[in-house]
Amino acid sequence: MQTYDLIIIGAGAAGLLGAGTAAEKGLKVLLIEKMEKPARKIRISGKGRCNITNTKQHEDFLSHTYPDSRFLNPALRNFSNFKTIEFFNSLGLKTVTERGERVFPESGKAWDVAECLVKWAKKSGAEIICNTKVKSLNIENNRISSLNVYFGNNEDIIEAKYFLIATGGISYPLTGSTGDGYNFAKQAGHSITGLQPSLVPLKIKNHNIRLNKLQLKNVSLSLYVDGNCIDDEFGEIEFNSTGITGALTLRLSRKAVNALTAKKHVELKLDLKPALSYEQLKNRMAREIQTVKTNYALLRKLLPQQIIAPFAEKANIKLQNQIAGADMEKIIKSLKNIAFEISGFNGFDEAIATAGGVSLKEIDSKTMKSKLISNLYFAGEVLNLDADTGGYNLQIAFSTARLAAQSIAAQLNSSSLPAL
Ligand SMILES: Cc1cc2nc3c(=O)[nH]c(=O)nc-3n(C[C@H](O)[C@H](O)[C@H](O)COP(=O)(O)OP(=O)(O)OC[C@H]3O[C@@H](n4cnc5c(N)ncnc54)[C@H](O)[C@@H]3O)c2cc1C
Repeated sequence: MQTYDLIIIGAGAAGLLGAGTAAEKGLKVLLIEKMEKPARKIRISGKGRCNITNTKQHEDFLSHTYPDSRFLNPALRNFSNFKTIEFFNSLGLKTVTERGERVFPESGKAWDVAECLVKWAKKSGAEIICNTKVKSLNIENNRISSLNVYFGNNEDIIEAKYFLIATGGISYPLTGSTGDGYNFAKQAGHSITGLQPSLVPLKIKNHNIRLNKLQLKNVSLSLYVDGNCIDDEFGEIEFNSTGITGALTLRLSRKAVNALTAKKHVELKLDLKPALSYEQLKNRMAREIQTVKTNYALLRKLLPQQIIAPFAEKANIKLQNQIAGADMEKIIKSLKNIAFEISGFNGFDEAIATAGGVSLKEIDSKTMKSKLISNLYFAGEVLNLDADTGGYNLQIAFSTARLAAQSIAAQLNSSSLPAL
């Protein structure tokens, strides 16, 4: 049986970065992936464009991570968002920075990011095996001695000195992230904090199906919990068959999910004309009514066709009626504020990230090492770490994996030094 210095479970963003880093440091590394290809999630990330990271400064960056940004601090200092950009650029992957300081590959192809990582990990000397599923850990005397794996119909045991769990969360399970890492962590005695879909579409109570697929740009959305506005965002939204999604909604969804889980009353209030104040909107309408006669014709000048009927229902105006002063008031108020009661959220299948995971209290943030098992490390979304949209989640995977791999290399080297 072959013995490795390090076995990494899961060839996603964290697994690949960890494997290449450890292999570059001279470790004999095996990276095990259960899907037929590594990095399936990266390949579909950022709507196929992969938002690799974000160029926000350190503290600002950390403020977009949850539930405890202090935990991420050493890993991000060690391998920052800026180092990530340098890293990809040094491998020949050019990057561009877009609105919101979001960084993408210049090619616009998430596939290139995945291939770049795989190529680099292999070139660094890591061995990658796919179609191989880790089933369980074998633990003796507070150490993992080996893993039980399936490849096809065969079972095998593989040994190593160190193990890194990088199995991701439980969202978008078709990419391979089915939560296996939580079972491995539990087997090692770790606790898993409550798992919740994060960055997820929200369901609207009594949703008007006519809104389905409608996309709106340059709108603002405010999140109300028990009648209090707790956050607002500007950008794009999209309605789907059960409710609302799009970048703006996803950004608010974490807080909405928490509030819904706590059985609070959640509403989203949509401002269709955030660039105009109430007075400015009134003046604009006064100009528009010079040339139109009915409410419908007026709204047609202000809104996309698809939203007009649902808007009129919400605003309680008759579209065919001649424009009247009372209707004008209702229209202005509704343009600035349409409320949608939120009745729930979609499941892990449609969540960009998993909130919750391996308890951070049981991991040393300076090394990513388990405080319970002496040769076990964790990296990536399997940890109780998640973030807003904007490239933060991938950076969490990269930073924690880099730190874990470097710590393992340091530990291995120090343990192989001759005793004085
Ligand atoms: C649709 C979508 C779009 C996204 N877009 C972005 C984006 O643009 N920017 C951003 O920052 N974040 C984005 N994210 C989030 C980001 O992709 C994840 O947070 C990140 O990929 C997590 O990396 P990871 O390595 O921890 O886990 P994963 O990428 O989930 O990788 C885990 C790997 O482990 C493997 N595995 C699991 N169990 C086993 C087992 N028992 N044996 C062997 N292998 C196993 C899985 O098959 C998988 O390949 C997106 C997520 C989704 C779903």
